[in-house]
Amino acid sequence: MPARANKLARKRKSPMRVPTVAIALVQERLNSIYGPIEWRPRMVALDELIFTVLTQHTSDLNAERAYDSLRRVMPTWGEVIEADTEKVADAIRQGGLANQKSIRIQQILVEILKRLGHFELEFLADLELEEARAWLKSLPGVGPKTAAVVMAFSLKMPAFPVDTHIHRVSMRLGLIGKKITADQAHPIMEELIPEAHRYDMHVLLITHGRQICKARIPQCARCPLGRECPASTID
Ligand code: SF4
Repeated sequence: MPARANKLARKRKSPMRVPTVAIALVQERLNSIYGPIEWRPRMVALDELIFTVLTQHTSDLNAERAYDSLRRVMPTWGEVIEADTEKVADAIRQGGLANQKSIRIQQILVEILKRLGHFELEFLADLELEEARAWLKSLPGVGPKTAAVVMAFSLKMPAFPVDTHIHRVSMRLGLIGKKITADQAHPIMEELIPEAHRYDMHVLLITHGRQICKARIPQCARCPLGRECPASTID
């Protein structure tokens, strides 16, 4: 076989190597600028679930405004179920996609009431991680990220939500492959990060994505991983 063909054959056979940064190093460096991180409960589980639906395809600020408006107009979840869908949509208008989100919120609430006869989801914290995740993901329109947010932020369970910032930063650091979607990244990241560090790492990576590893122009010169990151723009 000619030398060039030999070289190509060897190249094809060799396993593809994705440059990556060790997860422990990522945690140590990000913790040095954003840490220490402490778990703080945000809302009860159902409130967190509905709030997370409102955050889809909009900023946290718009979602907060929509959530506050909904709670002001309809203070109980029972009232949200009973209301005309158009009224729910009007109440959450500031969060965008109000027509779709209002239908989805009512479907979720109806399904929870049908299954439990009440709206308290705190029992999920007593289930195994995968059991709780499956229960949440079987609700209408609830995907891996929404389920993980509820588990991590309300139920103090070791789930790792992957949002757009975490997806981008993890890809740049080589923690996930370039073709992996945010939904696909959940089990990969949970496999990489020990349970005890998942909440901290979620907060550290999201903060890094917002403050330094920005979508359009990452500020690699300010990044504590600038020398190790495979996507670094530092020479
Ligand atoms: S070196 Fe640049 S691309 Fe890599 S994580 Fe830091 S800011 Fe992001």
